[in-house]
Amino acid sequence: MAGENVEPQQGAVTRLGEIRDRMGRAEADAGREPGSVTLVCVSKTFDAEVIRPVIVAGQRVFGENRVQEALGKWPALRAETPGIELHLIGPLQSNKAREAVQFFDVIETVDRDKIAVALAKEIAAVGRAPKLYVQVNTGAEPQKAGILPEQADDFIAYCRNDLKLDVSGLMCIPPVEEQAAPHFALLNKIAARNGIKILSMGMSGDFEIAIELGATHVRVGSAIFGAR
Ligand SMILES: *Cc1c(COP(=O)(O)O)cnc(C)c1O
Repeated sequence: MAGENVEPQQGAVTRLGEIRDRMGRAEADAGREPGSVTLVCVSKTFDAEVIRPVIVAGQRVFGENRVQEALGKWPALRAETPGIELHLIGPLQSNKAREAVQFFDVIETVDRDKIAVALAKEIAAVGRAPKLYVQVNTGAEPQKAGILPEQADDFIAYCRNDLKLDVSGLMCIPPVEEQAAPHFALLNKIAARNGIKILSMGMSGDFEIAIELGATHVRVGSAIFGAR
């Protein structure tokens, strides 16, 4: 594999380039505008020293799954480089809602009434409004976060109409043991009928299929930073 004979950090930069190339080919194959899909580089579990070279190489959009971990490493990295965009891609507890609203640019995991209410309250209190995506549990897996597909329309309407939240995207994580394509297609359908333009779907193993099925954001971690 490319990068095996170089420093781990340099390996990440090499692999970032490879992922960007593959995204470009997937965009072209799907007849989509070059550069129209945003790479959310998933840096969870990796330290600032590993992330920094990827920022130096030009990457600006990153995903973290834990509020506390992100608060530990990102303030310094953000101070070094302007224009970093941070996405929260892991489950959010309502007692972390304030910190999440203060710190993240995008919260991709809005998935239940309680967290939506907490976010609405904190957005009003803090005076800062991150972009919000609703996470849909497309595989209806009991252990997985996300609103059920059949409840998605009502939940989006509740966020918009009752809480005045601006839901701009949808996110999903398909079941690991299934083909991802039907899940991506389902998310696309829910987005279309709700007038939602942003689709965060596709990870290291399936981002090209996601781009073919309309992803505007792909979340890629291990294919860039290596195994966690
Ligand atoms: C970890 C994670 C990813 C990245 O997964 P890889 O397979 O490492 O690319 C994407 N999305 C979410 C929600 C994650 O938690």
